[in-house]
Amino acid sequence: KVRVRFAPSPTGGLHLGGVRTALFNYLFARHHKGEFILRIEDTDQTRFVPGAEEYITECLDWCGLTPDESPNKPGAFGPYRQSERKPSYRQYAEQLIESGYAYYAFDTAAELDEQRQLQPNFRYSHENRMQLRNSLSLPAEETQKILAEGHPHTIRIKVPTDETVAFEDMIRGWVSFETNLVDDKVLLKADGMPTYHLAVVVDDRAMEISHIFRGEEWLPSAPVHILLWEYLGWKTEMPNWAHLPLILKPDGNGKLSKRDGDRLGFPVYAMNWNDPKTGDLTKGFREMGFLSEAFVNMLGVLGWNDGTEQELFTMDELIEKFSVERINKAGAKFDFEKAKWFNHEWIKKIDQPIILARVLPILAVHQVTGEDETYVNQVLTLVKERMTFVEDFWEQASFFFQRPTQFDTDAVKPKWNADKTAFFQSLITDFNTVESWEAATLEPLFKEKIATSGMKIGELMMPFRIMLVGGKFGPDVFQITQLLGKKEVNARIANALP
Ligand code: GLU
Repeated sequence: KVRVRFAPSPTGGLHLGGVRTALFNYLFARHHKGEFILRIEDTDQTRFVPGAEEYITECLDWCGLTPDESPNKPGAFGPYRQSERKPSYRQYAEQLIESGYAYYAFDTAAELDEQRQLQPNFRYSHENRMQLRNSLSLPAEETQKILAEGHPHTIRIKVPTDETVAFEDMIRGWVSFETNLVDDKVLLKADGMPTYHLAVVVDDRAMEISHIFRGEEWLPSAPVHILLWEYLGWKTEMPNWAHLPLILKPDGNGKLSKRDGDRLGFPVYAMNWNDPKTGDLTKGFREMGFLSEAFVNMLGVLGWNDGTEQELFTMDELIEKFSVERINKAGAKFDFEKAKWFNHEWIKKIDQPIILARVLPILAVHQVTGEDETYVNQVLTLVKERMTFVEDFWEQASFFFQRPTQFDTDAVKPKWNADKTAFFQSLITDFNTVESWEAATLEPLFKEKIATSGMKIGELMMPFRIMLVGGKFGPDVFQITQLLGKKEVNARIANALP
């Protein structure tokens, strides 16, 4: 049975890489008709940020990645917050001590700090553990005494000397590590909380996780986890691992850091942190106007493709086509301009009522009320391919709801003359007689009139657009003319004439 988990620590907002990890877990689970679990890894109390868990849950919901089991929707494997599972971990740490794979360490924080002062590259490892204060270096009676007196202590893994630990990563193939380079990680902290390393192994087993998709930054931790699976006697139950490629800046240089992410607005949506530079509330993709469909699509192809040129995928298509074999080993470049392209494409692709529902409140913000929805929808049909974000609607379409207050007069005035005035006066008269007010009728009428006048098309088309729109932008001018209606068009021409 496929069971995967997304296991974030509630230390802040979710950034791009985090959601991509969640997405790939989700796609794999859905593709294999398995289960997707959210587990909150909150054993590091010093990094805990209030509100972060709610934030993570909401982000997943917004992206359509709702877990099958989570703190809010407990299944048979709860609790789903590690802090609530605290009592379950110590026994395993003790079991490791009994079997000789772990030891008590009594060094205080101050003593360890001192060591770090002396040697900047200090690591607690096979090289120096006999010179430090722990149950391996001290006589047994002394260890018993310290424990009996209740001094704070940690439990560390005893990483073997001169061994190689290897595993087959689903993306990278065989990866191996020399144990001499791995330090004796703390498993249980002085406060009785497990560290990430112990908790992740105990819980992945307890929750019957079959496959693990996580960021490449966790690869160096893999040897510790593999040793733990082995030392706890669970080797045959070990899940399959896949370490997802890093997300890189567009130039391909360097990893996209969380800090960059926050500053550039890369979290999914704003939390309560402020931009370190401007002091503003940092915007997220949601506030910037991204559709969740576009956001998910963009993340889905960040390090994965289906082997064709296709770039636009719905969630259902991603689920159907997702395969681990097609995840790239190399880092994936994230380009904000490309992200905008996805949104633009999705505005065109998605069912129009969804965009319409988001456009209506924008009208209300600009005090445009009582508009017929059919009319708004027709306007949307005309302008949507000019929109990158839903919010662009007003900039592109306000002239459909209000007469322009500003006109690009520089574009027409210098060459204005009495012939042009006469042309437009007579155009009003002609328009008044038109019965079928449609672009298909209006365009030939306008063009024939120009031909008879002896003037050039460009000399009259551009002024006409500016009279209706205010500037040199917008969709086809005859479509605009049709939609604005005869009365309004004539009024705008009349208004504009000297
Ligand atoms: N708690 C880790 C994190 O914050 C999870 C790493 C893993 O998936 O093993 O990313």
